[in-house]
Amino acid sequence: MKGYAKPLNRLIAELSKLPGIGGKTAQRLAFHILSMSDEEARGIADAIVDAKENMHYCSVCGNLTDQDPCDICSDASRDKTTICVVENPRDVSAMERVKEYHGLYHVLNGAISPMDGIGPDDINLRSLIVRLQENDEIKEVILATNPNIEGEATAMYIARLVKPAGIKVSRIAHGLPVGGDLEYADEETLYRAMEGRREL
Ligand SMILES: [Zn+2]
Repeated sequence: MKGYAKPLNRLIAELSKLPGIGGKTAQRLAFHILSMSDEEARGIADAIVDAKENMHYCSVCGNLTDQDPCDICSDASRDKTTICVVENPRDVSAMERVKEYHGLYHVLNGAISPMDGIGPDDINLRSLIVRLQENDEIKEVILATNPNIEGEATAMYIARLVKPAGIKVSRIAHGLPVGGDLEYADEETLYRAMEGRREL
């Protein structure tokens, strides 16, 4: 921005890299940060660095965690016979808010999308197959990918892969609005989608 000193311009440029933050918003945020106390501003900067340094993908389920395996994978009270497959860590958070699901998760960190050149090897899918092969206590895989083209294609692909192994495969019910992402669904809708899941 013309008329601003270099450090301010740099802050505006960095903030503009965030999704949904245009130039004007970045300027407003930058000025707001400058008006904060040193301690508050440092708190934001430290939180970013801390999260980047300490958050990793769980080597078992692919969820974001600060310890490996994650809290859910290492929780002895969880039902180890069921794995709910979701697209991203925000979906795990949404499902956990429902409090009715006590099984494990597998986070794909994406969805199959041939249009975007994303194939089965580009998402965290191979580790699910290994998990199923190595843990014969797993009796059901619930496919909770999003109700859109990519989510459906991903669910169908996984069902074809998993069913021959004799494991029950189910798809969450279409109580979810088509195109509406799982992470934005309210708890009641998610609960009904889980309860109404059908076997594939
Ligand atoms: Zn995990």
